[in-house]
Amino acid sequence: MDSVTTSSLLYLFSHPTRLPLQTVDLIAPEPETSVLVVAPHPDDETLGCGGAIALLRALGCSVRVLVMSDGTLSHPRSLKYPPAQLRALRESETLEALNTLNVNPTETTFLRLPDGSVPTPKSPDAEPVIARCQAYLQTVNPAIVFLPWRFDPHPDHRATWQLMTATLSALNHLVRIIEYPIWDWDIEQRGDFFEYKRITAWRLDIEAVLATKLKAIAAYRSQTTNLIDDDPDGFQLTSDMLKNFARPWELYLEETR
Ligand SMILES: [Zn+2]
Repeated sequence: MDSVTTSSLLYLFSHPTRLPLQTVDLIAPEPETSVLVVAPHPDDETLGCGGAIALLRALGCSVRVLVMSDGTLSHPRSLKYPPAQLRALRESETLEALNTLNVNPTETTFLRLPDGSVPTPKSPDAEPVIARCQAYLQTVNPAIVFLPWRFDPHPDHRATWQLMTATLSALNHLVRIIEYPIWDWDIEQRGDFFEYKRITAWRLDIEAVLATKLKAIAAYRSQTTNLIDDDPDGFQLTSDMLKNFARPWELYLEETR
């Protein structure tokens, strides 16, 4: 495995194919491994880890998904889809996407935090959220947790990483943490990294399930099409951005222990 430092991560995102390609059995040596994927918004789990989810399910692993925010900031001015309807729509898209990836609806949990306001452990409103995350983690008891990449440009993604790692360490729960990038793929948003830590980066070969992943991404019609057409500020994933998640591999990062 290649080990890179955060100082060279900008290079990593512009030349990802130089990273080693791994197979899924290296992630989950035991078929019953309990896996948790944490998504800041409804769609991040499928964009970032859809291939891993499908492959882990095919191996017989249990895969649960925790969606942190309600996703209602994607179209804040839509009259056709005010917040309650937009939340319901986005949750139904998540369930459809995960069903495509062979994850049962009962394995998905929506925390429904306000989009754009996922707290960090230092936020004044963090305590009840940490308590909910603690209770959840104690119930699902994962061996592997997929988290958004700690330096993702989106604040909700970074807050999700901080909140979940703080909760896991408060529980003294030792897990393998695998981080996935989303917005670092956007060259306009890709930032610099100030914290020096040793990070291992690798790619997961998802070619065998790529068609399934693309079908799952397509379930997110509110984010990939003009389904919601009455909000001039409405968000849509561009085709350039979607290309980053339509590759026959997924990029993952891990802190070297
Ligand atoms: Zn997101």
